[in-house]
This record gives sequence, C-alpha cells and structure tokens, in this order.
Amino acid sequence: MDLGFLLIVSGPSGVGKGTVCKDLIESDKDIVFSVSSTSRKPREGEVDGINYNFISKEDFETKIEKGEFLEHAFVHTNYYGTSKEFVEKGINSGKIVLLEIDVQGALQVKDKHPEVITVFILPPSMEELERRIVDRDTETQAEIDKRMSNAYKEIDLVDKYDYFVVNDNLEAAIDNIKSIINAEKHRVVRKNNIKEEYLGGRK
Ligand code: 5GP
Repeated sequence: MDLGFLLIVSGPSGVGKGTVCKDLIESDKDIVFSVSSTSRKPREGEVDGINYNFISKEDFETKIEKGEFLEHAFVHTNYYGTSKEFVEKGINSGKIVLLEIDVQGALQVKDKHPEVITVFILPPSMEELERRIVDRDTETQAEIDKRMSNAYKEIDLVDKYDYFVVNDNLEAAIDNIKSIINAEKHRVVRKNNIKEEYLGGRK
C-alpha cells in the first residue's frame, strides 16, 4: 500500500477554507477530514461529530493532559485540537488526512513532522476578507475586529508554509489545491516498492 500523508490547510477566518476542504473531501476518496475537537459552542447548522466534536473546556483540558492531541491551540478564546489517534490510523491506511487548523497548530505539527504538507489560503485582499466576515453575519463587531487582527498576525506567518493558494475564485482555488495534492501523491518517496514492482529484482 502507498503511504498516506498529512495535508494541513490554514488561512484566516472567513477566507473560505471550509468550502474548499468540503469540496476536496467530496471529490477525492483518498482524502479524509480530521474532525477537530473544540470547546466553542456550535454555530447555526453545525453538527457534532461532523464539523467538530463539541466538548466542554474541562473535557478538553483532560484530553490535553492525557496526550490525546497531535496539536492543540487556543484560538479566539476557545480550544481547538487534532486527535492523534485519528491521524495515525488514516496515514497508516494510505489516506491523505486533511487538517483544517490554525497557524499555531500547523506550525507545531510542521516543527515535529517536517514531511507534512502545509497550504495557506489567502484572501484576494484584507478589505475583501473583512467584507466576507461581515457578510457571514454570525459574529459581533468585537469578534469581527478580533478575527481581523488575528488575520494580520496569521498572514505574517505565510512564509512558513509550503504552498499558498489565493481564494479569489473558488473553483480556481480548489483546482490549485488539487494540483498540489496531485503532485504530492506522485512523490517517489510515497510509493512503496516502486522498483520491485517494475524490475522485480532485476537491474
Ligand atoms: P472556527 O471557530 O471559525 O470554526 O475556527 C477558528 C479557527 O480554529 C480556524 O482558523 C480553524 O482553522 C482553527 N481550527 C479548527 N480546528 C483546529 C484544530 O484542531 N487545531 C487548531 N490548531 N486549530 C483549529
């Protein structure tokens, strides 16, 4: 079996990461989405176990102590974390495990596992990003301001990522990520026994 890999997608709140990731999972059976745990309350339409595992702050802290997270971060006043077990199982069964996580978490993982692939989704401009967050109409003004101030800090770290994709046009952004995934799937290092398969021991 070929080896799976970890694909981390980050980008500021409101940039459209969720839509991009949803499309990737639906269009490629090799990709599985790592459902994060969070201590934040569900937004309208979000489903427990699908968008996130919604747990209490106390349960989150217990899981941190037990070492159950590959990474975790405190973002916008809430905890978010990735299950170590889910990621390991996925990679070992040849899957591309997709993590949609914030910059702190992404850099923690990249630091420990430099072979992971990191993609940063950028908005066309900061003005357009703010417009998208306002249009989403789920946050108060104070939350919008906090998300914009985080966006500046996050984009300041874009140079730590392997790839960037600008989400100006959704279809183009998705196509660009698909090209990145396709290139990564074709790395020789991920193909088990490629020489044996072709040469059968002969040189
Ligand atoms: P939201 O509250 O808008 O769903 O997410 C807020 C931020 O938390 C986003 O940047 C999202 O990518 C990030 N996030 C979601 N899950 C995780 C996770 O498991 N770990 C980390 N570090 N960040 C996450």
